[in-house]
Amino acid sequence: MDTFLSTTPFFTDAHRSLADRMSGFVEREIEVRAADDEGDADEALRSYVLLLAENDLLRHSVATPGQPFDLRAFCIVRESLSYSSSLADLAFVMQGLGTYAISLAATEHVRDFWLARARTGKAIAAFALTEPDAGSDVAALKTTAEIDDDSYLINGRKRFISNAGVADFYTVFARHGDARRWSRGNFCLDCFRADARFQCRGKDGDDRATSDRRTRIQELQDPVGGHDR
Ligand SMILES: Cc1cc2nc3c(=O)[nH]c(=O)nc-3n(C[C@H](O)[C@H](O)[C@H](O)COP(=O)(O)OP(=O)(O)OC[C@H]3O[C@@H](n4cnc5c(N)ncnc54)[C@H](O)[C@@H]3O)c2cc1C
Repeated sequence: MDTFLSTTPFFTDAHRSLADRMSGFVEREIEVRAADDEGDADEALRSYVLLLAENDLLRHSVATPGQPFDLRAFCIVRESLSYSSSLADLAFVMQGLGTYAISLAATEHVRDFWLARARTGKAIAAFALTEPDAGSDVAALKTTAEIDDDSYLINGRKRFISNAGVADFYTVFARHGDARRWSRGNFCLDCFRADARFQCRGKDGDDRATSDRRTRIQELQDPVGGHDR
């Protein structure tokens, strides 16, 4: 075991036992598969999500409403997985990133349904925030969300979206508010859960899970929640 884990007071016995369990799990289950990561990355990612779910590891990534998120357990799992396979780590982390906003702000039935699906590996999550002109500077985000009858119409372009193309649902960030507030430099950011039924293109011949897929979002439903800044 990493001596940092055993000698510093930052970790509990539960963390140390998780680290032990992870090192055996990675040796048994991840090492033997990692050589295939460079082949069909989408298929490898799907199988990692299922493997992590079967071993009840996604509960360290997907938040449980009402319970504090154990960031140290999350880091221990990430460190162990990424030691052997960055794709296995991606499979783990994206289930959490793609559902975190849902865990915070979705209505109860939407929240519980999608968190359970993500935690059990039945649905693969993605997080769509970055755009061609908005990365660190989130306030430059241009994608818009407008009410259209009983759903929302989303228009914009996203890039660098991990799991694009392989995900079953996306947490999409878009502007939703009036022009006056935008002109003062404020913006209202809403977060939407989208089924994977919009067009998603990869770069020519490149189907890697973390590739720069250009994602054009045309239509989705179910706002997750939002906040003003
Ligand atoms: C492998 C990979 C996977 C990714 N997956 C996702 C994903 O799933 N979903 C998603 O939404 N995004 C994803 N991203 C995008 C990632 O979050 C963005 O790349 C990141 O937010 C930085 O944005 P940018 O690339 O536009 O760089 P910029 O924001 O243009 O930054 C470029 C450089 O300028 C620096 N900089 C920026 N602003 C300032 C400032 N005010 N002062 C000083 N320095 C500054 C930055 O530190 C950086 O060094 C992914 C990126 C990669 C590489």
